[in-house]
Amino acid sequence: MLADRDRIFTNLYGFQPWGITHAMQRGDWVDTRALMAMGQDAIIAAVKESGLRGRGGAGFPTGMKWSFMPKEPKPDRPSFLVVNADESEPGSCKDREIIRHEPHKLIEGALLAGYAMRARAAYIYIRGEYIREAEVLFAAVEEAYAKGFLGRNACGSGYEFDVFVHRGAGAYICGEETAMIESLEGKKGQPRLKPPFPAGAGLYGCPTTVNNVESIAVVPTILRRGADWFAGIGRPNNSGTKLFQISGHVNRPCVVEEAMSIPFRTLIEEHCGGIRGGWDNLLAVIPGGSSVPLVPAEQIIDCPMDFDALKELKSGLGTAAVIVMDKSTDIVKAIARLSYFYKHESCGQCTPCREGTGWMWRVMERLVTGDAEPHEIDLLLDVTTQVEGHTICALGDAAAWPIQGLIRHFRPEIERRIARRKGFVAMPEALPQAAE
Ligand code: SF4
Repeated sequence: MLADRDRIFTNLYGFQPWGITHAMQRGDWVDTRALMAMGQDAIIAAVKESGLRGRGGAGFPTGMKWSFMPKEPKPDRPSFLVVNADESEPGSCKDREIIRHEPHKLIEGALLAGYAMRARAAYIYIRGEYIREAEVLFAAVEEAYAKGFLGRNACGSGYEFDVFVHRGAGAYICGEETAMIESLEGKKGQPRLKPPFPAGAGLYGCPTTVNNVESIAVVPTILRRGADWFAGIGRPNNSGTKLFQISGHVNRPCVVEEAMSIPFRTLIEEHCGGIRGGWDNLLAVIPGGSSVPLVPAEQIIDCPMDFDALKELKSGLGTAAVIVMDKSTDIVKAIARLSYFYKHESCGQCTPCREGTGWMWRVMERLVTGDAEPHEIDLLLDVTTQVEGHTICALGDAAAWPIQGLIRHFRPEIERRIARRKGFVAMPEALPQAAE
């Protein structure tokens, strides 16, 4: 469990005002110039040593990502930092808490990260539905300029750095980094083919790094407290603190900062008051936001909540948006609803995704009622593998994985529905059980 003294987000619940005066009392913007004086390469080295992995879902090492940026940007091709605040993954609701209550951690982090990457400016791309959050962010950026923390001589360092806040219009796909760049440029938010990667040609064709809000907001504290402190929390290769967002069938859903690798049972018992109806009532968990495969109860109960442990279970930590489902859940219907979401959000550029997401959703709808042939389960599984890995961006994978997880663990439940519909078996309404 995370000790209170190790918490980064001390105002996560908004018990104090978010404004700059209180933020400075909480430790934000305190001698930021001294942190910048460490030097750009030293900041990148510290972030590498801390073991920070991207908090937006992919878990790519943040310091390494920064090191891909040019050391000497050309005058006509400035470098940019883009902060991804599009938070649209079903289940994810952590970045909005940071923006509502700790916006200065994000803005100071943007300055330090941007400085380390020799960036000229940061663009914070916030999802359109976050209206009040955007208002806070606009106001917080103004406060930072008024104090001289941003602008021509940011924090008295002599470094010129600007922060712009850009509101999205509500498309899920704009959370994909290259679609976000397209959208920032004023175009339709559609992912680009990679390569070139954004570090080579990103926003306006210039070197760009896209980072998640949480990844950036933890940077000032890592630099203040030291890389060793951050690396000492959690398991090797899965270090630091993490904002977990627990929703669904727990007694008290919440967003909480905890140590990475905390066991699932401890996370739920300590912060959520347990599973609704007790642990025997747990059916399955989607541990990282809607795009990762579900994990059945018996596999997740004692699992450390981190990147590597969940990968071993053929799932993922994602954004740590933990969706808990008890035995009252119609698990096939739940996954069918996610299939509809991805069908709806597909940008339509590539055929496997545009056609495949709709096809998979329609089959999923029939599986909910059992209106299918048994062989269609394998056919559906086969189609998911033809979508997965064959598209421009990861939305195709995100649409395929929940279905794969369902079939992997709950195939008997799908077969039971088909058999019941055909009248082969007169089975009572059984609570669905995991297959393995
Ligand atoms: Fe668009 Fe889907 Fe292709 Fe991504 S995978 S680029 S969302 S069509």
